[in-house]
Amino acid sequence: MERGLDLAISRMVRIPSYSVDPTLKNYHWLDLVKGQFDAYDVGADTALLLDTEGNIAEGPGFNIFTVKGTRLKTPAANVLPGITRQTVFDLCKEMRIDVAASTISPGALADSDEVFVTSTAGGIMPVTQIDTKRIANGQVGALTQKISDRY
Ligand SMILES: *Cc1c(COP(=O)(O)O)cnc(C)c1O
Repeated sequence: MERGLDLAISRMVRIPSYSVDPTLKNYHWLDLVKGQFDAYDVGADTALLLDTEGNIAEGPGFNIFTVKGTRLKTPAANVLPGITRQTVFDLCKEMRIDVAASTISPGALADSDEVFVTSTAGGIMPVTQIDTKRIANGQVGALTQKISDRY
């Protein structure tokens, strides 16, 4: 939580929603588990999977958010709409922070000021490195910390 997670973008693609409906919590985790093993192989903490269009989806048991300026984004499709993801929407409303569910390309992700992931087990977890490249200055982001404190 203090240093932030190191994610590896997986060569495994998140199973498409026409095969398994990602909006329902399910145990079809082969893509996520394979992604996690690949992440461990390269020394990362965990994996991030892309969807079939090459946009950011989610990881093994968590949703992802990006911060650019004062604006938060999280993938709109091909994800489980997690309870913690919804809680971030609720907190952003309370805190008057701009948040939207939309498409996020790997390029936009890499260009983010801050990145964090969310899950019931981990809460708001900062990400400071993706594919061995630091996000911004490699420190836990200020907005991430603010939302985490509120959470
Ligand atoms: C559980 C899970 C999440 C996170 O959901 P929470 O309700 O916040 O715990 C995100 N993606 C997947 C694939 C999950 O299984």
